Amino acid sequence: MIQDSQHATVINRGQVSFLHFPVFDQYPEVVACFAMKGETDRYYDYAPGNHRKELWSELGIDGDLVVGISEQIHSVNVARVDDARCRYTKLDGLVTNRRDIFLTTLVADCIALLIYDPKNHAVANLHSGWRGTLAKMARVGVQKMIDEYGSRPEDLICVICPSIRRDDFEVEREVKDDFARQFREIADEIIEEVDGHKFMIDTVACNKYMLEEMGLRQKNIIDTGICTVCANDVLHSYRANKDTEKARRNLALIGLKSC
Ligand SMILES: [Zn+2]
Repeated sequence: MIQDSQHATVINRGQVSFLHFPVFDQYPEVVACFAMKGETDRYYDYAPGNHRKELWSELGIDGDLVVGISEQIHSVNVARVDDARCRYTKLDGLVTNRRDIFLTTLVADCIALLIYDPKNHAVANLHSGWRGTLAKMARVGVQKMIDEYGSRPEDLICVICPSIRRDDFEVEREVKDDFARQFREIADEIIEEVDGHKFMIDTVACNKYMLEEMGLRQKNIIDTGICTVCANDVLHSYRANKDTEKARRNLALIGLKSC
């Protein structure tokens, strides 16, 4: 179950269920959502029988203008998208300032960061799982917006989509050590040692830290606060569902429509 909050509300419409982000309500050009399996176990990934068409029609967008990444590889490769017909592969982030191009990533426990620049009218969709977090995708993605569109970090608004959260993200010692190395300044905050041999990591805190480090305002970093493992009745979670669901994924989308 997901309770509506000030940062994310559940929309159930006919065949589809998705999270809506009220922070974008004041910007009519923004289309953004995080698709849920909802009560009827719909899904929107690449598997045959997905319910993408229904989702596009509920969002009022043309499916031909939706851009996905055919292979996400936990990298920090970010592509500028100027043409929805091109193929984007072996990447983990997309940026565009074109209207009527809608950027998507697929996640099931990994973090999707949806970023909007209201001044330069540009967006980014970044896949930042634990590997991407270690490789600092949040920094690379914001830098890409600066380089491509002249974005100023203080203008950017970033939604942190539902993802695995600290209380469910237990890692091996080596992974813990990698986080301690990459995030030395905040290691005490992001790593929790339990019983001397279990390590819990707060990857959301790492991403918030990087966004702030890049210059985003704290008030513009909008964390949905939703854990995919805890809410796996309505969201796909790799850790919670890997045995039963063949690791289906949630679809995160952002784009600008012509107003
Ligand atoms: Zn949880």
